[in-house]
Order: sequence, then structure tokens, then C-alpha cells
Amino acid sequence: MANPILFRSTNGTIDDYTLGQALLTGQAPDLGLFMPQQVPTITQADRLKLVGKSYPEIAFDVLRRYTGGQFDDETLRSLCDDAYTFEVPIEQVRDRRHVLRLDMGPTASFKDFAARMMGRWVGRLVKPGEPPLVVLTATSGDTGSAVAQAFAGVPGIEVLVLFPVAEVSDRQRKQMTTIGGNVTILGVEGKFDDCQAMVKRAFADQTLSNVRFTSANSINIGRLLPQSVYYLYAYLRLADVAAGETMVISVPSGNFGDLCGGLLAFRAGLPVERFVVATNANDEVPIFYETDEYTKVVPSRTCISNAMNVGHPSNLARVVDLYGGHMDETGALKRMPDMDRIRADMWSVPIDDEETRRTIAETWRDYQIMLEPHGAVGWAALNRFFDADQVPANTLAVSLETAHPAKFPDEIRALTGVDPEPPPALASLEALPESYDTIGVDYDGFRDLLDKQYG
Ligand SMILES: *Cc1c(COP(=O)(O)O)cnc(C)c1O
Repeated sequence: MANPILFRSTNGTIDDYTLGQALLTGQAPDLGLFMPQQVPTITQADRLKLVGKSYPEIAFDVLRRYTGGQFDDETLRSLCDDAYTFEVPIEQVRDRRHVLRLDMGPTASFKDFAARMMGRWVGRLVKPGEPPLVVLTATSGDTGSAVAQAFAGVPGIEVLVLFPVAEVSDRQRKQMTTIGGNVTILGVEGKFDDCQAMVKRAFADQTLSNVRFTSANSINIGRLLPQSVYYLYAYLRLADVAAGETMVISVPSGNFGDLCGGLLAFRAGLPVERFVVATNANDEVPIFYETDEYTKVVPSRTCISNAMNVGHPSNLARVVDLYGGHMDETGALKRMPDMDRIRADMWSVPIDDEETRRTIAETWRDYQIMLEPHGAVGWAALNRFFDADQVPANTLAVSLETAHPAKFPDEIRALTGVDPEPPPALASLEALPESYDTIGVDYDGFRDLLDKQYG
């Protein structure tokens, strides 16, 4: 193996963390986000060798470029086989436009792809006999269950998840509150941004230095690296690889972790024609890309694609960094990124709830493809991109479906007249007892609870 990849902070004062250190730290001590010092290249020859390989094999090939020096190849290979045991279907909808279904994992959200790998990495890093490592996470809907599932029962780890009580569906809540064991769930009487702010403050709180924390939010680099794999997977399945064909990819985005995975794949050499960056009515990024002016949406707007109700994406600092700029932990732009290059690589558009609902109804009626609100935002944005004559109509394209329709049964039934069939993992939830407490948006109370429970 060549020299292992080291990790630096977007705030610029750290440049030599190993993968293990970055995984266990979460947010960098200077409050920046970890990025690989360089993105390992995947060449055309590498891609040709991967055509026809299974998802775990492709994951192994991509991730070993980052894990060298931390996990040996044999370990990584077995972790990939163990994490990726579910299908990753691709559905052709119309022309050469496809939906990549990332919704077949155990919590029926694309977050399983990252959380299951990160959980296995971190599980390998904790040592018996040490105080527990507390995985502290805020969720807007799907992170919580994916992370809690990925770490449930892992020795040496305690999981604490904060979620906005009024903003997640019953099913999303039950996916977290029925796990128990080393998983503790707290409902916050506020918005996702309040949960995220409390978590960030706890990480930075010197009076909690007796608690060993890490983050499983998409600020953790362990959440990003595995998310670069399925971009390559879709390309290998759909494109004329030998011809070096390019592909349009639409990403329904909230905290922009998913998109960052795609941008890493792109930097590694994936032939992407353009990323379509789809948001819901939280349109701070589309406006930023268009006007060069960044303004957070405060408070964030409540949309049916609830996992994307984010008024200031925590991974935007990483996008800015990849394009030569600097955004600090408060969201202030200290150095502008290359906006012309951003616009050349990405096309961003907000999709409101009305268009989201119409897209779900029409895609079912016209193509018998069932989308849910997040995937519908991505699909609607992709079609807007084609309608705006940005590329020829026969360009290869894929839109990510990030959750299973059965997570939103009432909405889907109302729009399509069909009851979405829940995958087995969701169907069994109904019978299980729930357990969670509720707290206000009160940092001091939260701090005391952390100290008492884990200090
Ligand atoms: C988290 C989530 C998103 C947004 O992903 P980001 O990485 O935060 O941009 C989209 N759809 C679903 C279903 C999600 O759970």
C-alpha cells in the first residue's frame, strides 16, 4: 500500500490526522471538518476492471484507497461483505434516465450505506476496558435510525440521538425508539437545526471533557467516504465505460453529505457530466450558487421531504473547501470558492412541496415507478435540468432515491392510491414497544443529562 491518506481540517490548523483519529474525533478540534489531504485517483483502467463486480467488491476497491494504514485489506473486505448485504436496484424510468434505489437497507434509507460502514470501522477502533465512546447524533429523520442500527449492540459504544419531535414520521420515530440497549433516544421540542446546534455545542463544551464523544452526523468523515461508492456503482452498471461516457447525477440534498460523497467520486475521476443539486424549499444553496451570496434560511422551512429541512447544510463547508474557498463553523465565508467552477460542475434548483407531490403522482401514473418525497425532489430537479436544455435529451442520467416510500405511507397513499409495501425491517416495527424521553431546546439541561449519564 502507498502512504496512507491523512486528513486535514477545513479550518486549516490540522493536516495530519489518521483515518482512525478522524473517525473518533468527528468534528476537528479547530471546529472545521475533516477532508482527505488528497483524493486517491480511480483511473479508467481501474473502472474497466470493476465492470460487472458486486457492490461489496466495488466498495472494497474504493475504500481501501482511504483505509490503508488503518485496516488491512482482509479486514476491510470482510467489513464490506458484512455491511452490504442488501440489493441496490436501478430502475429505468424514461429515455436514459434512471432511479438508483438506495432504500433497501435495514432502515430503508440511503444512510445505511454510510452508517453501516462507519459503525464497523469505529467498532474496530474502541478498546475493551476504556470508558464508553458516546456516539452523539442529531437527526432530521433518517440519520438517527441508520446510526442507531449500525451501532446497536457494539461493545464499548453508547448511542445518543436527538430528533425534532414534531418533524419526523411515526415510522421514522419507531425505527429509533424500538432499539433499546446501548441506544438512547431524545425527542427535542424544536427543529432539526436546534438539535444540531445542541450537539455541536456539546462537542465544543470544555466542561464535558470527561465524556468521550464522537459524531456520526455527516460531519464525520466516516459518513462521507462510503457515500462515494454508489456513484461509481451506478456508473459501472449504466455507462459505456470503455468509451468514457459521462453521466448526469441528481442528488436530493439536505446537509450535503451525500453530494460530498459524489464530489469525492468525481475528484477521483468519475466521468460526471453535471451534478444536479436538488433541494426542497430550503433554497439557500441554489441561491448561493446563482448569486455568490450565502444566507442561511432561519428557521428552516418545513417540507414533506423532512430529512432535507436544513437551513444551513453542515457539509457546505466541505463543498466550499473542495473549490478552494473557506467557510468557517458559523457559516461565514472567509474565502470565496471558485464559483464559476462550481457552476460548471453543479446545477442547483429548489423544488417545493407542490411540485414534489405532483412528481410522485405523475411518476406513478406514467411509469409505475414509486418515489417518496426526497427521491421525488431529486427526480423533479433532474427533469428540470433536461427541460432547461442543459444537455442533449439522450444523455445518461441517474437520480438518487434516498428513502423507501413505505416510510411515508399516508402521503404516498393519498398521491398514488396505492399502499406502499413495507420492506420486512419496517413491517416488524409495529409490534415493538417504544422508549424515549422529551426535552426542550435547553442546552444546560441537555449538558447536565450528558454529564450524569456518561461523565
Ligand atoms: C439525510 C437524507 C437526505 C439528505 O442527505 P444529505 O446528505 O443530508 O444531503 C435525503 N433524503 C433522505 C431520505 C435522507 O434521509
